[in-house]
Amino acid sequence: IGAAARVSGIVREFQKKCDSPIGKLHNVADSMAVEMRVGLASEGGSMLKMLISYVDNLPTGEEEGLFYALDLGGTNFRVLRVHLGGKGKGLIKTEFDEVSIPPHCMTSSSHELFDFIAAELARFVATEGENSHPFPGRQRELGFTFSFPVRQTSISSGTLIKWTKGFSIEDAVGEDVVGELNKAMERVGLHMRVTALVNDTIGTLAGGRYYNPDVVAAVILGTGMNAAYVERANAIPKWQGPLPRSGDMVINMEWGNFRSSDLPLTEYDNDLDVASLNPGEQIFEKMISGMYLGEILRRVLLKIAEEAEFFGDSVPEKLKIPFILRTPHMSAMHHDTSSDLKDVASKLRDILEINNTSLTTRKVVVELCDTIATRGARLSAAGIYGILKKLGRDTRKDGEYQKSVIALDGGLFKHYEKFRQSMESTLKELLGEEASDSVVITHSNDGSGIGAALLAASHSQYL
Ligand code: ADP
Ligand code: MG
Repeated sequence: IGAAARVSGIVREFQKKCDSPIGKLHNVADSMAVEMRVGLASEGGSMLKMLISYVDNLPTGEEEGLFYALDLGGTNFRVLRVHLGGKGKGLIKTEFDEVSIPPHCMTSSSHELFDFIAAELARFVATEGENSHPFPGRQRELGFTFSFPVRQTSISSGTLIKWTKGFSIEDAVGEDVVGELNKAMERVGLHMRVTALVNDTIGTLAGGRYYNPDVVAAVILGTGMNAAYVERANAIPKWQGPLPRSGDMVINMEWGNFRSSDLPLTEYDNDLDVASLNPGEQIFEKMISGMYLGEILRRVLLKIAEEAEFFGDSVPEKLKIPFILRTPHMSAMHHDTSSDLKDVASKLRDILEINNTSLTTRKVVVELCDTIATRGARLSAAGIYGILKKLGRDTRKDGEYQKSVIALDGGLFKHYEKFRQSMESTLKELLGEEASDSVVITHSNDGSGIGAALLAASHSQYL
């Protein structure tokens, strides 16, 4: 058979494997809800860690003062200064700075990473203006958003369980991340106190709740993916401490590590996983998040280049380089609306040094983008639906649906329009017409940083 037929054979096969019919998504949501219960029952019982955050009160809107936040996510790292006005006044001012993390810091030593962070933080603190000092005599307080799995020991301390998203720093695993940050701050002569340690999902939940009391869960779709939600403390059998007065406890699901036999996995996913820094882990994340979507695309393109001369009789050298094709590139190609798909052509040329592609070739590339993004989007919708099911918010309670708002954030959600549309329409499809009227997805912009500052405020030593 000819090359074109071989290409379409491989592409069809891939699409078949990626298929996520609604029945399958219902199964995914069901097993998500089951695993949530297992993870809440005992430590280490489930692939979902269901980490207790020690956040038992979310922002009320009355938080007041000047607070800092530091957001270490995966790709970028941000420092924020937030001026909270107190009751009825809201957020008066936010200032921030964003720095990309030097790749060597992601895999070297704890010392090196935290020194880099502390130095950037110190630089930012030095830019405090006239009206942006803390109250005289008070120590600056910081909310630290650290978006990796952490076993919390209190609201302001916790040990790193493992790295994800391309980070791998052996000597930090098992260490208290706040302790590491404190030591680095001391080394650069910065006096600040971490009053809240959270991850991006908890921060986004807090930031979302500040504006909307109906926010019950937060989902991050960025370099990685994760979710957090508000659980009833008495529904957490593994919680040993006294029941919080609010009766609530925020749970960091760490759902990136979810897996199930219903996940539409392909050989490309398996190969990507085997070659990753954390094989066998974060399978859900590897099918969905921004770190990986472009890499899945590259792997499929490489396969059809090698086996079906998709880009001519030689295999483009650049295409062999892992992670060269990033999700933003994929998204740009996917959204190309020009009749000759010129953005696809230019991405292929600029990134992969593939010239003179035919329109047919470009169309196949767009089709692949669509297959990969749609699968990821539909699976994330199934995850959200799983949370709503666990909370009983997918059905009527006392005859009525409860209003449920989910706060979303992350670069993938923010910038990948088609991904977002597919996710939202799939969630509607899963919920059904009636229930979906009471479920709202909101974009909690920069919620993770602001949320950390809010939690730093509500856990201030001066309260
Ligand atoms: P982090 O998860 O590291 O905290 P972000 O939430 O900003 O950071 O997400 C960054 C990720 O978002 C990138 O790794 C990338 O995969 C994805 N992303 C950024 N821009 C785009 C885009 N234009 N289209 C699709 N994905 C994007
Ligand atoms: Mg982030």
